[in-house]
Amino acid sequence: MDILAHGLWTNVMYRSIPKTRENSKIIWWGVLFGMLPDLVSFTPVILVRLYYTVFENHPATFLTEAFHTYKFSEYATISYNYTHSIVIWIVAAALIWLYLKEFPWVLLGWGIHVFIDIFSHTFDFFATPFLFPISDFEVSIISWAHPGFMIVNYSLLLILYFFALLGRQASTSVNQQQ
Ligand SMILES: [Zn+2]
Repeated sequence: MDILAHGLWTNVMYRSIPKTRENSKIIWWGVLFGMLPDLVSFTPVILVRLYYTVFENHPATFLTEAFHTYKFSEYATISYNYTHSIVIWIVAAALIWLYLKEFPWVLLGWGIHVFIDIFSHTFDFFATPFLFPISDFEVSIISWAHPGFMIVNYSLLLILYFFALLGRQASTSVNQQQ
């Protein structure tokens, strides 16, 4: 899924869990972790693309041949295995859980990111290697960039945020009346 939608859904998730909904520190760090898998894998590529577009007047999209000649595309492909693996996430979360002796809630954003990506990528563009390094099994259902997916996804987000805003306004006016 796209990074903005990842951030917005992660925020919804944290604000729905009783254990985390009142803790803004967990929410904001968790939202960052919800976007981090893509930031870690794609930031170098995006910066290189930006450089070529602005300074060399030579834009290259992810799927063109030119893109694959950039060294950073190799970094994106390799790092994607690590940032988008449920296996790696389980190991990391378990180790930190053992060390801290409490569940690392901020890491839940990362786990949810991988889970959503399993079903919102296709073989054409970074299918999610969620079982890496145990298996290379991947799922190809619908791309997050498909117009239908985009419309449904952002409509749901819009409805959720609209009602959350209404709920917040209602509770503020009740508090003011008391
Ligand atoms: Zn992703």
